[in-house]
Amino acid sequence: VKVTLIAGGVGGAKMAEGLYHLDNVALSIIGNIADDEAFHGLWVSPDIDTLTYTLSDVIDRDQGWGVADESHRTLETLSKLGDDTWMSLGDRDFGLHICRTHRRACGDRPTLIARDIAKSFGLTCDIVLPTDDTVQTRVRSDQGWLSFQEYFVKERCAPEVRELQYENIEKAQVTNEALEALGTADLIVIAPSNPLVSILPILKVPGVLEAIKASSAPKIGVSPIINGGVVKGPADRMLASLGYDATAFGVAQIYAGFLDGFVIDHADAQHVPAMRELGLNTHLDTILMKTREDKIRLAEQLLGLSGVLD
Ligand code: GDP
Ligand code: CA
Repeated sequence: VKVTLIAGGVGGAKMAEGLYHLDNVALSIIGNIADDEAFHGLWVSPDIDTLTYTLSDVIDRDQGWGVADESHRTLETLSKLGDDTWMSLGDRDFGLHICRTHRRACGDRPTLIARDIAKSFGLTCDIVLPTDDTVQTRVRSDQGWLSFQEYFVKERCAPEVRELQYENIEKAQVTNEALEALGTADLIVIAPSNPLVSILPILKVPGVLEAIKASSAPKIGVSPIINGGVVKGPADRMLASLGYDATAFGVAQIYAGFLDGFVIDHADAQHVPAMRELGLNTHLDTILMKTREDKIRLAEQLLGLSGVLD
């Protein structure tokens, strides 16, 4: 069964891990590049790296990002030399950023670089970029315009978000790899990622949403909001301050135009009637994923729901 997952970082990687460990699934993941930013002259792609590190099992499981057993000597030197070092980048992690940056400077396509990195980490699934162009989320907050990482890491999501812009997205060209992953999928899954800063910057690359709609595969989403709150991160506050309903229902509204089904937690059962009115097949489940078993179980549920195994 060919499954194409649209995913951000930590929440996306949890869903990816479940699907990745199912025997009968050939997985392609379209990842988010709008968090990318240059640090110390190196191109850092946090969400793509979280996918690679998680699936290759080198991830720091406590943090959910970064490499386990890391040291930070490179950052110590940079700090000593006067660089700003609020973006935590480990020594092992730096190696990857050096390779990516070097290959980009040589003119290699970012999609091929991401694919080669995934291969070098031993992955048997495809990690695909939605575009080879640079698209970056910018955040207008009560402290003015911030880059995404300034908002997310430096300011620890404290500023109130008033507007989001995905810089350059209208001009971005969708990759053939992303179109192929969507066009050949038997099942398309929207991961329980932040809808506004992880999923929308993928869907809004011209051609992506059209390809999803054109696919005859079932399309199922999983809510990143459980019991009216997030597992981690600013999604609920961001939804609220931007005028969305900060609930599983609010997320469903964003996706209702193209999804067939949406999986929400038992704790959010009160939203089922409203979701059905949106035309969404709504399924209640336990959607908090702590262990690999939790992830695999939910992934199996998605396949069952979609009927692609029948
Ligand atoms: P980021 O790029 O690292 O910020 O991660 P994502 O955008 O992929 O995911 C962030 C979202 O994942 C947050 O809104 C969390 O509520 C959600 N999330 C994290 N863990 C889980 C989980 O175990 N289950 C569900 N349903 N959502 C989760
Ligand atoms: Ca992210």
